[in-house]
Parts: sequence; C-alpha cells; structure tokens
Amino acid sequence: MWSLPKPRYTAQETYEAAISKVRDKNLHAVYRAATRTVAQASSGYAAAAEHGVAHALLEKDFAVKGVTRGQMISLYDSRMAHKRGPARYVYDAIRAAAPYNRCPLCGHRDVGTLDHVMPKTKFPALAVTPLNLVPSCHECNKRKGNQVAASAHTAAVHPYYDTFDNDRWLQATVVQQRPAAVRFFVEPPQHWAEADQARARHHFDSYGLGALYTAQAAQDLAHLGYRLERLANDSGPEGVRSYLVEEAESYRFARLNSWQTAMYTALGDSDWYWNGGFSM
Ligand SMILES: [Zn+2]
Repeated sequence: MWSLPKPRYTAQETYEAAISKVRDKNLHAVYRAATRTVAQASSGYAAAAEHGVAHALLEKDFAVKGVTRGQMISLYDSRMAHKRGPARYVYDAIRAAAPYNRCPLCGHRDVGTLDHVMPKTKFPALAVTPLNLVPSCHECNKRKGNQVAASAHTAAVHPYYDTFDNDRWLQATVVQQRPAAVRFFVEPPQHWAEADQARARHHFDSYGLGALYTAQAAQDLAHLGYRLERLANDSGPEGVRSYLVEEAESYRFARLNSWQTAMYTALGDSDWYWNGGFSM
C-alpha cells in the first residue's frame, strides 16, 4: 500500500509502441484502427481512478471494437511484457519505479512482475495502459488474480492515486508469550473516509499481510533477544526501551507504515517486553 509516482508514458504512445512491429499487415491495420478507442478508454479509466470510482466502471465499456480480448492480451504478453517486445521499455520503466524493488502492495517482497489494476481479461482496452499497471511481487499478483471490486469498500488500493501512506494506518501489538510475538492490524485515523478505512482493512486481509508480517517479525524477534539481553545487563530495562524507541524512530523516518516501524513502536510501548519479555 505504498504510493508511487504515475508512469510518464501515455496510454496512446505505449499502445502505438506495442503495435509497431506487428508484421501481419491486416492485423496491424486492425490494431491501428483501435488506437483512438484505447486512448479514450484509458482517459475514462484515469478520470475514474482520479475520483476513486474505478470500481464502478463497466466491463462492457472496455472491450475494443474490432480487436478480440485475446489479441489485446497478446499485445501485453508478447509486445510489452516480453523481453524483446517493442513496448518493453515502458514495462521496465513502470517496474523500476518501485523503491528498492519492493512490491508496493505488500511493502515487503521483491517486485517480479506488473499487476493489472483492472484485469486485462475483463478490461482488455486497458491491457497496455501504463496507469493500469503497477509493479508487484508474484505472490500479490497471484492473490489479486482477476478480481474486480464489488463496492467502494473493497476497491483495490491504487499506488498512483491513493495516498494512504501520508498517515499511520499499520499498527502492531505485542503478544505476551514466550517467545514474544507481534500481531499486526489496521487502524487508520478517524479523519479518513469510511470507505478508505474499509479498503485498507480489505487490502490487508486479502493480501494476507498479517501473516506475512508476523512471520517476518518472528525472525527479527529471535535475533533481537540476544542483543536485548546484553543491553539489559549493561544498562537495565530503560536501556532496552531507549534502543527500541530509537529503532522505531529510525524505521518511521524511512517509512511510516512498514511492518518494522509498527513492530518497534509496539515493542517500545510494551512495558512487559522491555522489562524482560524479550528473553527467549
Ligand atoms: Zn507484494
């Protein structure tokens, strides 16, 4: 759920690049005749996304007259995503926009592909539209599949249009057990629109982020135990607490809603944890 800058390539130039090397003259003419339709569909989609109503778009408005769904999908597969495809430079630019190659949907795994926000099987006119393509890890891409949101409350979080990262929405709590564990949950600020609060929760649940972050946290907590034991011996529980608070600040500075920020904030806030809860 990280924000990303919008790709700089337009739908029309990407489409024109993708069809530029179609050798079959008839097929090329078919594709070329659809250029305006694709550009218009893409503008309609961009306007809807800008207003947060892309989930209300109708599939029937995103078929491309004269071009089959398979032909549109093939443009993406063979001419944009393919290593030697003529529109591959746009694909590469979109992929490269993810900081540290981290997937913006889970904020954790490496980017391995592009995800169609509006699935290409249902919205073929947007198959090569840059604003409909976001960098994604394979797991998030698979989890999303061809789903289309049924309502504003389940609409996909969009890295080019949503600014969820301006506020803290990811929180964690320490589970008082041995070894200690951390549980993550979504708690957006009250000033968010109700639908956005629901979307953040839906995103967190449907992408399995709670389990992902808890598993990562367990690894870090196991490492942390030894270091904190030594800190506690040298400077007592207060030394442990300061260390955790400083780590939280440092992660917060890098990213407000990373699981590390949430985890260290929760650890620093937990009297139980820094008073010895960390020992294995
Ligand atoms: Zn991911």
